Amino acid sequence: MSKNKSSESVKVVVRCRPLSRKEESNGPAGGIVQMDLRLGQVILKNPRAPPSEPQKTFTFDAVYDSSSKQRDLYDESVRPLIDSVLAGFNGTIFAYGQTGTGKTYTMQGLWLDPEKQGVIPNAFDHIFTHISRSQSDKQYLVRASYLEIYLEEIRDLLDPNHGNTRGLELRESPETGVYVQDLTSCVCKSIKEIEEVMNVGNQARAVGATDMNEHSSRSHALFLITVECSQPGPDGRKHIRVGRLNLVDLAGSERQAKTGVQGDRLKEAAKINLSLSALGNVISALADGRSSHVPYRDSKLTRLLQDSLGGNAKTVMVATLGPAPQHYDETLTTLRYANRAKNIQNQPRVNEDPKDALLREFQKEIARLRAQLNHRRFRSKQKKEQVDGEAWEREGDEEEEEVEEEEVEKEAEEFVKLEEQRLEKENEAIREDQFMLAEEKQKLLGENEKMMGDLRKRQEATEQLTARYKAMESKLLVGGKNIIDHTNEQQKMLEMKRQEIAEQTRKEREMQQQMLIQDEEAVELRETFTSLQQEVEAKTKKLKKLYAKLQCTKAEIKDVNDEHVRSRQELEQTQNELTRELKFKYLIIENFIPPEEKNKIMNRLMFDPEEDEWKFKPLVPDESKSSQMKKRPASAVGYKRPISQYARVALSMGTHSRYRAENVMLLELDMTPPNTSALTDGEQNQSPTLNNFPTNDKGICKSRSWCQSQKSITSSSSNNSLFAALKTFN
Ligand code: ADP
Ligand code: MG
Repeated sequence: MSKNKSSESVKVVVRCRPLSRKEESNGPAGGIVQMDLRLGQVILKNPRAPPSEPQKTFTFDAVYDSSSKQRDLYDESVRPLIDSVLAGFNGTIFAYGQTGTGKTYTMQGLWLDPEKQGVIPNAFDHIFTHISRSQSDKQYLVRASYLEIYLEEIRDLLDPNHGNTRGLELRESPETGVYVQDLTSCVCKSIKEIEEVMNVGNQARAVGATDMNEHSSRSHALFLITVECSQPGPDGRKHIRVGRLNLVDLAGSERQAKTGVQGDRLKEAAKINLSLSALGNVISALADGRSSHVPYRDSKLTRLLQDSLGGNAKTVMVATLGPAPQHYDETLTTLRYANRAKNIQNQPRVNEDPKDALLREFQKEIARLRAQLNHRRFRSKQKKEQVDGEAWEREGDEEEEEVEEEEVEKEAEEFVKLEEQRLEKENEAIREDQFMLAEEKQKLLGENEKMMGDLRKRQEATEQLTARYKAMESKLLVGGKNIIDHTNEQQKMLEMKRQEIAEQTRKEREMQQQMLIQDEEAVELRETFTSLQQEVEAKTKKLKKLYAKLQCTKAEIKDVNDEHVRSRQELEQTQNELTRELKFKYLIIENFIPPEEKNKIMNRLMFDPEEDEWKFKPLVPDESKSSQMKKRPASAVGYKRPISQYARVALSMGTHSRYRAENVMLLELDMTPPNTSALTDGEQNQSPTLNNFPTNDKGICKSRSWCQSQKSITSSSSNNSLFAALKTFN
């Protein structure tokens, strides 16, 4: 990738942890990693190789050995990045390495021991101290989110229901790039609050996992901090800069053994390291510089870190190593990986006035609430003045006048109190008035009560508005105001000195590294020889040096070839397993699923590249879903409910008594209530006819008579007409 003016490479630092007690007791072998702190070099010894084999040397931006302190790493390698984030750049720090080499130790460290706090707590401290020491014309809004990627699913660690819901989705917008949809984001006003957010997330992570160790070594944890800062520019308008910081603790980089897995477990195994191998491919493609295609879309992690690798961000990669001889291969792989990442070029730029800045929305909302509140209070104040009988003439220009907010608030409150008292007094007077009619008294009292209620409601609304306004305003941090800096001058000086030293060390190392490169190139030019003998000696020395280098490179090529073969074999093995799986599924489909069903399913399936899954096409297109839905048939006209053709025919034929009930309700009944006794008579009299009716009809007759009131007296003629009607139907 070509270097342009604003591009800078990914900073890569390497850290080696001390030998653990167990490793120490394993044997006298000692560590295989040596470090040259001054030059930023790592020298790796192959424990299985003969002593004659040259050692492998890698150079990085900085290296930290087992005695390094958390603070050293932070001050030298991370502090400049956080400063950039505070100035509006995007920044990413990710820890890469085998499980148990100190990724989490580097990122989080031991929270309770200030000496052993990792990058994340130190960054919290840094950000909020910076805000507390900045000028008071700056306003800040700090937000934090926490997520993890496990088996290619994104889980929101701050969402209490994250265990029950499906993974979150990634979206892309031209403004912000790739982002996680619906991710919880917490506004934090202090170190304590942001630490709380981190704790909540860490607990969610631990609770969700049955085996925490395995889970944490297989999932990627991303802590995201957004710092928005608004400051008046030279043009007098407020400008907003947004810095986004990604703090990433990656899954363990060790190879997952894939042999002998089948079915779902195979799929799972393939997913476990998908993100990490995709990350490797992205780094290779970027470092190589020749490949035009960078496979960002291959995994969730690479999509999320797209900007951090080859995009708009400053990036620091911390590669962690273990010194134990048994992990030589993994350590070498990590070093190679890190070495490749050095070549990635980013193009960081300040994010100025982005459209989606939340701070701007907050400012607008605060201004709106404030205007509303002022308006309310102002009205109350005006009313008070009217009651007091003063200041009529000032009314016109008073709206524009900048009235002291507190004064207005006080006056508004006073007005409410006075009004309440006045109403109370009026009530008293009304109650004591002996000349007033009771009804009138009641009416007046009611009116007063209503006014009082209105007053209280208004007061409540104002209080709610004030609370909302204050809550909104408290979320914004004002430089040097909301957070008090407790450090005294001496400590501040000490801090500054430490930062200066760190900066100095960094520069020195850079110079040393450059000198080394120049030395190698220019050695020939500088040498002048006084005698032939001297020339031979010098050239032999150089030859030896170059020969050693050649051997190193040859060994490197062999190593890389071996690794390539190994990974190809692994891929072939995975492919074989997948083919076997596919054959199995084919067998089931071909032999046990009817072809027409299969075709139906095939026609409806489509591939969703966003989610990397096959999905069913909806039966009805989304937009016309409601309009195309078939309507429920309405009742047939003239019938109580839809009636089948068969029933209709049977009814018109009049043969089958079964369908008669369908139309019973159409009967025009004589509404004169029948007499119960008469009915009984009628029943006796007419029994032959009645018995012809199905029981349903009898029920109707009965229910008719039953629902009549007892008072009504009926004549037998009504019964007769009822039966006559039924008969006609028959
Ligand atoms: P990872 O997250 O890479 O799997 P951890 O951060 O959990 O590894 O580290 C494994 C163990 O090694 C922890 O007990 C940790 O305290 C210890 N450790 C790692 N790095 C260091 C270091 N630089 N100094 C001291 N102890 C370390
Ligand atoms: Mg870890």
